[in-house]
Amino acid sequence: PTRGRFGPLVGAIDEGTSSARFLVFAAQTSEVLTFHQIEIEQKCPKEGWVQQDPMDIYNAVIQCIEKSVENLIKLDIDPADIVAVGITNQRETTIIWDSQTGEPLHDAIVWLDTRTAETVDALLADVRDKNQDYLRPLCGLPMSTYFSAVKARWLRDNIPEIKDAMDAKTCMFGTVDSWLLWKLTGGPEGGLHITDVTNASRTMLMNIKTLQWDDTLCKFFDIPKEILPEIRSSSEIYGYFVNGPLRGVPISGCLGDQQSALVGQMCFQQGQAKNTYGTGCFLLYNTGTALVHSTHGLLTTVAYKLGKNATPVYALEGAIAIAGVCFRWLRDNLGILKSVEESESIVRDMTTRSEVAFVPAFSGLYAPYWRKDARSVICGLTEETPKAAIVKAAMEAVCFQTRDIMDVMNQECGIPLRTLLVDGGMTANNLIMQMQSDLCGVPVVRPLMTETTALGAAMAAGYAEGINVWELKGHQGVPKDYFYPTITEDERDIRYSRWKMAIKRSLNWQP
Ligand code: ADP
Repeated sequence: PTRGRFGPLVGAIDEGTSSARFLVFAAQTSEVLTFHQIEIEQKCPKEGWVQQDPMDIYNAVIQCIEKSVENLIKLDIDPADIVAVGITNQRETTIIWDSQTGEPLHDAIVWLDTRTAETVDALLADVRDKNQDYLRPLCGLPMSTYFSAVKARWLRDNIPEIKDAMDAKTCMFGTVDSWLLWKLTGGPEGGLHITDVTNASRTMLMNIKTLQWDDTLCKFFDIPKEILPEIRSSSEIYGYFVNGPLRGVPISGCLGDQQSALVGQMCFQQGQAKNTYGTGCFLLYNTGTALVHSTHGLLTTVAYKLGKNATPVYALEGAIAIAGVCFRWLRDNLGILKSVEESESIVRDMTTRSEVAFVPAFSGLYAPYWRKDARSVICGLTEETPKAAIVKAAMEAVCFQTRDIMDVMNQECGIPLRTLLVDGGMTANNLIMQMQSDLCGVPVVRPLMTETTALGAAMAAGYAEGINVWELKGHQGVPKDYFYPTITEDERDIRYSRWKMAIKRSLNWQP
């Protein structure tokens, strides 16, 4: 293959909830030259449990890298042009492995898993007024089934082997980024146990001001500090691949997937925000160097720290657990869709008017409600209701939940969002994008290049000191699609109030 055809190349490992991918970008143009993707199996052994085999995750990543390298060679591009690789990953998902053998001691507990509901209750039992926001001043997060420390605590309480290993400090804790970094840099033979500030900010164990593991938090959850990875910036050379076709290539970028999308969308200014629609849906708003503590259920999180000595930038985040995955549920569990893509045509072709509301609270409700006891409801069915009406209501659910979050963000952030910048797998659905604009009353802007999550990790890797092939400015003005509101303020309000009625029922389902 020809060397240097596209200048320096940067790879990105994008390990999402539904699939693992490896993409190769040309640093000069941000163009994707090739990629490979493999779906990851999600196991649901009990209601509310979602787990994945950490070895499946690792092996899928390795295969994606190998395939992409083969593709490059077929395209007459020299894989040796890859000068750095970045990692972006599903956040919060928790893995504990044996530091000697490298064997995972349990499946990864995936972020939207709710097995930890009782762990949350037990932890809150000792807290004054069972205040969910008790730890917010330290970590920026409410107590929820969602975050890694709660999952690690569940593993400690329920898997004797893990409790023993934690006490003997013979295991390692990591989110998916740490697990992959450790494996790729040698595993038990010298692997680096590292995470970045954005991933660490989702564990509930990191102090949101000092960006270090916090003794009070570790003690609260009873997780020994010794098993935690070292917290580093999101852009620096962490280490090098020790095996495979990328042997010797530095790994120099690491960002949680939502933060990575924020970077990939170039939201570097305070007041800029993006909404990513994948398995779940996540709206992140850049608050600059200011730490904003929400009183309405938004999360305070690290947006990025691009360099060892760079100033950290913070974000407020609205997290929705169930978005794209609801269409898989309609396909696999109800069988009313042949494919998730079919949702668009089925709803476009619907001729009857429907007033169905659907709150898919499969993992309880996240922002701004944070109610693990919320349950899914479908309201307003009649004898005439076609299946398309339920699909439409599922689409609206994502849009209304985004509106719930936007309303709170506009209240808390000062600078209201005048447009909504979007990305993620689900944004391929034009009908949902139009609905989103209608139901929020602002233009929705979708870049034609929708691989913004992977792009963010590649940018961080290419920008790192010692790599220096990527500028963080100058990619503005990429082509975009726009969706403008087409309904009246009155209609928007009527529809939103119906959603709020459904939410009330979802929150009050449990006695
Ligand atoms: P993740 O990063 O969470 O793995 P992706 O960004 O890859 O997610 O998006 C995949 C999700 O988007 C899946 O849950 C899928 O059901 C959903 N999705 C993909 N295409 C469509 C579509 N056309 N309409 C509705 N949902 C879709």
